[in-house]
Amino acid sequence: MECRKYCGACCIAPSISSSIPGMPKGKPAGVRCVQLNSDNSCRLFGLPERPKVCSSLKPSKEMCGESRQFALEYLYKLEELTKSGGINMGKILVFMYNDMADFEITYATHLLGHELSKEIVPCAYEKNTIKSKGGLLFTPIITVAKAKADDYEGFLIPGGWNPVVKTEILDLIKAFYTSGKLVAAICAGPRYLAKAGILDDVKYTTSIVEWTQARREAFNNEDDPFPRENFIDTRVVRDKNVITSKGISFVDFAIEIADYFGMFKEADDKEAFYDMITGK
Ligand code: SF4
Ligand code: SF4
Repeated sequence: MECRKYCGACCIAPSISSSIPGMPKGKPAGVRCVQLNSDNSCRLFGLPERPKVCSSLKPSKEMCGESRQFALEYLYKLEELTKSGGINMGKILVFMYNDMADFEITYATHLLGHELSKEIVPCAYEKNTIKSKGGLLFTPIITVAKAKADDYEGFLIPGGWNPVVKTEILDLIKAFYTSGKLVAAICAGPRYLAKAGILDDVKYTTSIVEWTQARREAFNNEDDPFPRENFIDTRVVRDKNVITSKGISFVDFAIEIADYFGMFKEADDKEAFYDMITGK
């Protein structure tokens, strides 16, 4: 069979141990090869620099299937069978609400959904269409009250100015945290974590550096919910199974989450990826 145009699954999902120009130590599983163009074609196609392993890999019905998603899933499963610590498929729950700052989580969901083949499941208090601060519309497919931590690998909470904190979201956050699953919140999102009591146990950050009068008024005149002794004034913090971030650090947040799920095998790979994304 012919290689499918715009696929590139075999240049992302599997690890490649031989050296690739730009990736001298090879490529970790789940990481895009740096030679992969934005249309998922190989920059080195037909050139002597193209690794032998790439030239010798032939498309097949068994590996490529009928779709890119099929090929990604097949190759991730193969990676899991052949290596320890491979990437697991799984579902990630994402909390949504009107006026949320969607950009703060969409790069994270891109890495999780596109690069790590996780299923992204949007949830909200009600199953009504959500309009983000930027005007994009989102469709929740489960309510917070019905979602169960057992069914997911992690929970993401974006920032925004939503004063409504219902018991069901606090219970859900606690269930994720106590079962050792990822809880990740950005910008004002960590306020939910503070109200669930889990920031008493971990170091964290947030864009809400101070609880000013304006903040108080924005949040129903409530007192500062943050345990300030655990606050660190930095871009992103990962402590146990909790990742928190300032809103401006949405790239750091996304990469930390991707790292949590094993996208990078070595610290160097994570740094190189960060530098590539930020153009350093
Ligand atoms: S998985 Fe198959 S179809 Fe997709 S890029 Fe690789 S060889 Fe081509
Ligand atoms: S060198 Fe080309 S064919 Fe090989 S993994 Fe990278 S993009 Fe794919």
